[in-house]
Amino acid sequence: MILYDYHVHSNFSSDSSTPMEEMIEKAIKLGLKTLCFTDHMDYDYPYVEGGYSFIFDPEEYLNKLNELKYKYRSCIKILTGIELGLKPGITEEVEKLVNKYPFDFIIGSSHVVNNIDPYYSVYWEGKDEDEMIHGYFETIIENCKAFPQFHVYGHIDYIVRYSPSKGLGTAGNTPYSYHKYADILDKVLTTILSLDKGIEINTSGLKYGLGYAHPKTDVLKRYRELGGELITIGSDAHKPEHLCYDFSYVEDLLKSLGFKYYATFEAGKPNYIKL
Ligand SMILES: [Zn+2]
Ligand SMILES: [Zn+2]
Repeated sequence: MILYDYHVHSNFSSDSSTPMEEMIEKAIKLGLKTLCFTDHMDYDYPYVEGGYSFIFDPEEYLNKLNELKYKYRSCIKILTGIELGLKPGITEEVEKLVNKYPFDFIIGSSHVVNNIDPYYSVYWEGKDEDEMIHGYFETIIENCKAFPQFHVYGHIDYIVRYSPSKGLGTAGNTPYSYHKYADILDKVLTTILSLDKGIEINTSGLKYGLGYAHPKTDVLKRYRELGGELITIGSDAHKPEHLCYDFSYVEDLLKSLGFKYYATFEAGKPNYIKL
């Protein structure tokens, strides 16, 4: 049983209204050993009216987490992680942040391409879906090279769930798969591996009804074939009911693909846990 959730949001993320205590109480009920909060920090996130800022006060975040670590110390281990939204032009802010604060775990994520979040339909308007997905994978490669601070890259193909066809393809346009984007996905995966970084398996794709986690099963399979072993498991929960979403499915899936271990992180160092 997987008893570690390494991608969890609270109301320090502007798209969640869940107090940390509620998430922790739920984690204790589920019998988790460790809960690693990874709230959103997206420097210079493009302004959208009525949209999100995805910025929190790191002092406040760490103080709160330290208080909760102590309060719940006999029941569960609480760790200080972060999901950093990466993009060009924020190197200085990211360096300052990670040098100043002792994060246990850093997820690097692409949330914008050319400063637009694919979550918004304007990203796709008048564009070719395949090209836009390709462009997203390119940002991952650029960000991996520019930001050596991250430990795992987040939800590698999450863009697919916001694409007009939801990855299902349309007439003359085949559905999303590893093979469809094999060249660029191989570059993504080999870049991550060459930097000694890992990926996460993020079960929000299952929650969104895509039928697979991120990355899709055939991409995970390819990661393993290329020698990838470092993988963390996260639900990307923004609400308590989504903690550890479909983790039993993921456990079987990873085993079936030949993974022997998954990873947890503490003080920036991985620990490997047998599947
Ligand atoms: Zn994300
Ligand atoms: Zn997230």
